[in-house]
Amino acid sequence: MKMISCVIVASILSFSAVAGDVNFPARDMPPRDVVVCGGGPAGCAAAIAARRSGLGVLLVEAQSRLGGTATSGGVSHWLGGRNDAGEWVVGGIFRELSLRTEKNGAAILPKHPDGKTYQPYAWLPWFIHGVVLDSDRVAMMLDEVMSEEDVEVLFETRVVGVEKSGGRITHVIAHAKDGFRRIPAKVVIDATGDADVANFAGCPVLVGRDCDHLTTPASLTFHLSHVDGKALWDEIERTREPKFRPLIEELKRKGEWPFPYDIFISVKGLAEDEVMINTMRLTEIDGTGAESRTKGYVRGRREAYQLLDILRKHFPGFKNAQMKSIAPMLGVRESRRIDGEFKLTVEDLRNGAAFPDTIGYSMYGWDLPDPKKPSVQPMVDETGGGFVNKAKKQLVTPIPYRVMVPRGCSNLLCPGRAVSVERDVLGPLRVMAPCMAMGEACGVASRQIARGTANSEVDVPTMLAELRRRGCIVDKSALPVVRPRVDPATGDASRRMSHVRGRIAECEKHENLHPRFAKAFEFMRRPDLAELPCGRYEIDGSNCWAMVQEVVLKPFAEENKYEVHRAFIDIQAPISGSETFGVAKPDPKVFDGFDTTKDYVLFNAKGQPWTLEPGEFAIFFPENGAHAPGLSSDGPRTIRKLVIKVGSKSAWYVQTPCEAVAANPPRPSTLESKMNNQTMNTTPRRQ
Ligand SMILES: Cc1cc2nc3c(=O)[nH]c(=O)nc-3n(C[C@H](O)[C@H](O)[C@H](O)COP(=O)(O)OP(=O)(O)OC[C@H]3O[C@@H](n4cnc5c(N)ncnc54)[C@H](O)[C@@H]3O)c2cc1C
Repeated sequence: MKMISCVIVASILSFSAVAGDVNFPARDMPPRDVVVCGGGPAGCAAAIAARRSGLGVLLVEAQSRLGGTATSGGVSHWLGGRNDAGEWVVGGIFRELSLRTEKNGAAILPKHPDGKTYQPYAWLPWFIHGVVLDSDRVAMMLDEVMSEEDVEVLFETRVVGVEKSGGRITHVIAHAKDGFRRIPAKVVIDATGDADVANFAGCPVLVGRDCDHLTTPASLTFHLSHVDGKALWDEIERTREPKFRPLIEELKRKGEWPFPYDIFISVKGLAEDEVMINTMRLTEIDGTGAESRTKGYVRGRREAYQLLDILRKHFPGFKNAQMKSIAPMLGVRESRRIDGEFKLTVEDLRNGAAFPDTIGYSMYGWDLPDPKKPSVQPMVDETGGGFVNKAKKQLVTPIPYRVMVPRGCSNLLCPGRAVSVERDVLGPLRVMAPCMAMGEACGVASRQIARGTANSEVDVPTMLAELRRRGCIVDKSALPVVRPRVDPATGDASRRMSHVRGRIAECEKHENLHPRFAKAFEFMRRPDLAELPCGRYEIDGSNCWAMVQEVVLKPFAEENKYEVHRAFIDIQAPISGSETFGVAKPDPKVFDGFDTTKDYVLFNAKGQPWTLEPGEFAIFFPENGAHAPGLSSDGPRTIRKLVIKVGSKSAWYVQTPCEAVAANPPRPSTLESKMNNQTMNTTPRRQ
């Protein structure tokens, strides 16, 4: 037994206010090769991997179970480890645990639902890459795994400090019900998600945005039972509004939606009638402060019941819903992150940079909601329906080993959501499958560090060879072909898009376009566009052509005449004078009157106005992109405009570069062959 002086702990913890002479008895524990702090996805994988390297491992977890946000945080959905064909992008322990949980009936690996666009395990079109969990069973299974692997676990034990000597941590200080413990360690893995240990050890850390240190909102996730999943699913298929934005807008207008977020997010559970609700966004919560976290719990529990009332009253399928559980641990998406020597940047991702120390990949997008506007994704251009990224990146994001190496402590590694990255890069990296990949790499690297190698000097080829041997995917060549999400029925990626707008001068930033689309953009950039006489211009035979038209604009009314296409994408651009478009998503019922020979249906609807100035263009995609062209918000006027028709079934507008897709476009569908062989009625319809 050793006395931990409050003065020592206080200085380590930077709590200068509590400096004094109170001494706390601390139980000295036997030395460990590796102490893993935090038993979330990163910590569990790190502990297993280190033990498999023959090291003695103690895993210290503040909560009462393993799994971190997936279990204690109620977020029962491991993301980022599979592609949208359901193939593995993260291998190793993540793949092993996913298959084991599925085999034990504790997880579902979703499949594309027959004949449907959405599936209730994510509600994004054709999105199946998550692993859906039963949190309680996963926690139990992780207990079993640790016991089989011979990893020692301490629950309800929180790491509260460290002792350091010569730039290394010598002891981890933890606190449990029975007091303080002093644990000697050769290697320390900080998998607290909050970089607690790095912070205690005096390593430089950063919090949130540079400008105000605010972080992305936290959530208190809850699970409901007695939900009529079919009613919910049918409504989403019908309206194509899985986030229920229009309904929430209406509730806001009526004063019945008191929250700062305006999207609904749910994931179906393993039981037919169970749903996880991940809608709540608690702004301005500091995940590292007790007072702020307490506010998060108080606000969160109140909002969970408020949301339940609203869902019961207004949302399809929730009439009889019951609260099944509210997460016992606050869901913190972002807090501290280490400020390492190396930092992965947005520019790296934009450039598709490759790294010699890549330990794995994430298959996930930019996702870090704005700290103050919780439904806004700063890296996504929402004006076009939320599908265009402001900074394009590869569909898979590489994870260099160096993001886990803090400065100023040579035997500490920091996997998980507190890594050394430019803030927005947390989006793709913070989800749980890549966190497990990081944890596994740290566990493997621990072997070298336990023998005296500094964390920044680890022999990378040796570490990578061992990861490969363990089935981890560290080489790009070992990745499955990763495509943008496609409709399995038609092979059509563009169908999920609705409306996109852009500037003609910036067209060149849209890379990796199908050649037909590239030609259309080239036409739009013609320097003589303003002088072209009205008429039709061939671009690519019956697959793509342009029309210069003179039109008299009608006033934008509350209800306008809309059109939507199936076989052709419309690009529209005013040449002289502004033009207002109504934009809307069509009710699927309108397709009952679809005219296949003309490739459109006309219908009356209410939509949002989009006003384009000359130099701007809008793209309206088939099926989703209903538009009412030729309108004006300031009275009748005559303008000249350009309309380009692009055959859609193989003319993909791919939002993210993807060599595999560009090289292997799907075979034209029957519909497209039909369209290519028939003469289209190309007479401008509305003038
Ligand atoms: C509301 C919400 C929804 C999300 N949705 C998804 C999703 O659907 N799919 C997905 O893959 N990802 C999702 N994420 C992201 C993901 O859950 C986290 O980024 C990920 O779990 C981070 O893993 P981690 O191991 O770094 O940390 P965590 O999962 O946070 O685990 C950290 C563990 O360390 C313990 N701990 C903390 N401090 C200490 C300490 N001082 N001493 C001892 N133990 C400590 C904690 O109790 C916890 O168990 C979501 C996150 C949130 C908050």
